[in-house]
Amino acid sequence: MGRLQKILIPSLGLVLAFWFYSARDTFKPEMLRGKRVIVTGASSGIGEQMAYHLARMGAHLLLTARTEAKLQNVVQRCLELGAASARFVSGTMEDTAFPQHVVREAQTALGGLDMLILNHVGASYFGFFDGDVEHVRKLLEINFLSYVAMTTSALPMLKESEGSIVVVSSMAGKVGFPFTVPYSATKFALDGFFSSLRQEFAIQSINVSITLCILGFIDTERAVRAAAEVLRERPAPRDECALEILKGAALRRRELYYRYSSTRLPLLLRDCAAELLDYLVRSRYR
Ligand code: NAP
Repeated sequence: MGRLQKILIPSLGLVLAFWFYSARDTFKPEMLRGKRVIVTGASSGIGEQMAYHLARMGAHLLLTARTEAKLQNVVQRCLELGAASARFVSGTMEDTAFPQHVVREAQTALGGLDMLILNHVGASYFGFFDGDVEHVRKLLEINFLSYVAMTTSALPMLKESEGSIVVVSSMAGKVGFPFTVPYSATKFALDGFFSSLRQEFAIQSINVSITLCILGFIDTERAVRAAAEVLRERPAPRDECALEILKGAALRRRELYYRYSSTRLPLLLRDCAAELLDYLVRSRYR
């Protein structure tokens, strides 16, 4: 009997621990039903797919990007798919007043905000760094400073709802990548800002989650056009990528890796074999 207890009690403990952690980790689409969400860069690619998933889950959507005609189509589709509501604001994140304008629209039209998804990305080149400092400055404005500005404006609403911030980044924001130097710099900046902000939220007991998404190669038109010829790997599907981001966000994950095998696993080498990781990154290119 004593022996049985010695085995039974720890086993029961293990089963309960497994149940507790797996239950905590289970995503259900209802988690996003009725949530008020801003998606930036929603006119194409991963942002567009996130909008469609959120629409199927019954969220209220405020979408933004520059191209009004594309946004109109995405909003129309979101309404057909079952969004609780869908609207857009068009404009460029190069305009320093635009982030605040989008957030004000959420306040007016949605009466608050539960999730801020920062996903837009400015155009850059694929090739050796050409020394154009103005381009780096402009890209920092679009890919980094506008993320900071939107977060700052949205924070009062997110604090009230105990909501979430989702930051779409890249492997190129965790490890040095050739041929995308300005882009990589902006993605590293996101990690520095949002990982530090998360620490301050913890110190101040601010219950707003920050999910940093580390993506590999995804089959969006822009990425395929830029890199399919030179990258050896096959891109992952954008609709699956979009869903994984939303699951990570709903579960308030700290970081999300997609696909795991081409992002999280190689990154394990960063501290113990950095040069090997650099070599593996370079060997991805033809
Ligand atoms: P995408 O298809 O090119 O979409 C980019 C979005 O940003 C579009 O909606 C675009 O719409 C908007 N945008 C571009 N410039 C803008 C500006 N100045 N102001 C406001 N909006 C602007 O890109 P994606 O491949 O889906 O990438 C989405 C996110 O995933 C990005 O943060 C990217 O870094 C990250 N990511 C992608 C990959 C990949 O392989 N695809 C890999 C790693 C990380 P308009 O042109 O209408 O403005």
